[in-house]
Amino acid sequence: MNKKLLIGMICVLALGGFSWFKAQSVADPSWAQATMGTECHITLAGSVPKRDLAALRKKIDTALADVNHCMSTWQADTEISKFNAFQSLEPFPISPAFAEVMQSALAFSAATDGAFDPTVKPLVDHWGFGPAADEESLAEIMEAVGWQKVRLENNTLIKDHPELELDLSAIAKGYGVDCVAEVIRASGHPDFIVEIGGEIVAGGTNPSAKLWRIGIESPEPGRAFGEEIFQTVEISNKAMATSGDYRNFRVRSDGTRYSHIIDPHTGKPAMSDVAAVTVIAARCMDADAVATSLCVMGSEKGFQWLENHPEFQALFILHSNDGNTFTSKATAGFPVSEKQNRIGK
Ligand code: AMP
Ligand code: MG
Repeated sequence: MNKKLLIGMICVLALGGFSWFKAQSVADPSWAQATMGTECHITLAGSVPKRDLAALRKKIDTALADVNHCMSTWQADTEISKFNAFQSLEPFPISPAFAEVMQSALAFSAATDGAFDPTVKPLVDHWGFGPAADEESLAEIMEAVGWQKVRLENNTLIKDHPELELDLSAIAKGYGVDCVAEVIRASGHPDFIVEIGGEIVAGGTNPSAKLWRIGIESPEPGRAFGEEIFQTVEISNKAMATSGDYRNFRVRSDGTRYSHIIDPHTGKPAMSDVAAVTVIAARCMDADAVATSLCVMGSEKGFQWLENHPEFQALFILHSNDGNTFTSKATAGFPVSEKQNRIGK
């Protein structure tokens, strides 16, 4: 065979192979999967074979379904709902995943002096944010509330009060994001971002080989997601979670608002100066729990707490006294990429 013809044929075959490979893979794939009453958004940086992608999506579906099956209070057949319905003081066996999250939840309850409390479920219902209506008086409800009234022993949970009920919503989304991140990493993709309802894990770098840049939204009620960005941050191999009073709230007849975050000490919605707080940590479950806790504590107590917990960085967006603007305050090392100190509401 003519040498030139042979080289030409090899080039055509190589090009064909390259095009075939390209057609079989997706560049920087990005998709959403429904979960926990919201969506899980995932982006991978790099080219991923379609077959691998389909397998990965299946694994993520399974991981998310497992988390939901443990920790959703919105379905009756989940582990948490069965525990909540179990009005007995006998040990109730739970799965290792449920036990892992409960162990963290109780550790954060102790570390935050009860600002975080997984037993707030009857209060969440009472204030109209939960799956059930609770008509009992606040004093009656408080008898069954308190993180010291539930114990975790050898993968069983034991109630001290038969009506004690758990709500892990302040930590479960973060745990779910950690689980998805783990599945993605274990499948050989170090560069990715995963988000569920504002809780995020960013691995490695973005499709431009830079740090992942994330917008922290302005905590103004009624805005669409991401409509107004307060500040942007750049992270890599970190988790980030945000809590606030601007998305999930109710309005009283006098026009005042109250949010879904409950102060377990009073049994009432938290009334701190924090409009929103974003926390960065190694694990999303931890960032999630701390963000909720800081909303309860308020900025002054919250900053003191953070001084003793340097493994967390936080950005507080605070209601200012005039009621028309926000101010912000961040711990040292919070990875801000563009700073705006004040913006109008
Ligand atoms: P997050 O959006 O992560 O701040 O979680 C808020 C959700 O956690 C609420 O909708 C309640 O279901 C639950 N919750 C409210 N207050 C507390 C609290 N003080 N500690 C733990 N969970 C809470
Ligand atoms: Mg939280």
